[in-house]
Amino acid sequence: MKFLQKAKKSLGQNFLVDKNIIKKIIEIANIDKNKTVMEIGSGYGNLTEAISYMKPKKIFAIEKDKILSSFLKKKFKSNGNIKIFNKDILEMIEEKNWEKNITILGNLPYNISTQILASLIMLERWPPWYDVLILMFQKEVADRIIAKTKTKDFGRLSILANWRLDVKKHFDVSKNSFFPKPKIVSSVLSFRPKKNNKFNLKNPKNLEKVTRILFSNRRKMINKNFNKLFNNKDDVAKNLNIDLNKRPEELNSEIFYKIAIEYEKLLN
Ligand code: SAH
Repeated sequence: MKFLQKAKKSLGQNFLVDKNIIKKIIEIANIDKNKTVMEIGSGYGNLTEAISYMKPKKIFAIEKDKILSSFLKKKFKSNGNIKIFNKDILEMIEEKNWEKNITILGNLPYNISTQILASLIMLERWPPWYDVLILMFQKEVADRIIAKTKTKDFGRLSILANWRLDVKKHFDVSKNSFFPKPKIVSSVLSFRPKKNNKFNLKNPKNLEKVTRILFSNRRKMINKNFNKLFNNKDDVAKNLNIDLNKRPEELNSEIFYKIAIEYEKLLN
């Protein structure tokens, strides 16, 4: 493979060069001719090309790097089903007019991977415009996303992700599958929107806020931060049966969703 320029660290450019891994990612996606697929950060189009072999209805390839997006436009010139966007994915996620049930794939730029995931979760409309996400993360980030309560990796990221999405880990990917070689191992996860989320919030930002405040001291009991959130109203903890002497990492995800619902009530 020939590269046009030095990989840009600022854009998290680590290109997937392992055909076998590309094949495994495509297999998870289960793409057929009725599907529209969006790829986040297409780079030199290795994954894009493999997607196109599955003959989906359409492919939206999003690439922020101008040089790479021009390269992609040339590379896929003869394929009218592939549309290249020279744009920042973070500006596109909240657009309102996406068609429904898009499959989103991506070997994410690692410097903004959690930001991308968070904005895919925080969408106003639910179920959202995508029906599955298949994304590559740094393994340590993936471990935090799938972490269960009472483990060291459990925290805001797993609480947020598991609020609206069913998360599944597929496999790890060695550094050698990329060029340039990253310093760390990667993992592929998939996410499917929960159709009936029991814990509905008017504003998802309230869950972000509640978890941010309660996790501001991981090692300390939650009582101070909890009372800050609820202005010392002590019936909330009682009604939800929360032991305020526990640390945030000792509570399960559902408790945080319930706290966010109570917090939202307080605001109204
Ligand atoms: N999918 C390719 C490239 C992965 S590297 C492959 O596997 O080979 C991540 C890619 O995301 C890079 O091409 C980088 O330029 C692009 N990128 C970085 N930030 C982006 C953003 N905010 N929006 C869209 N693309 C971005």
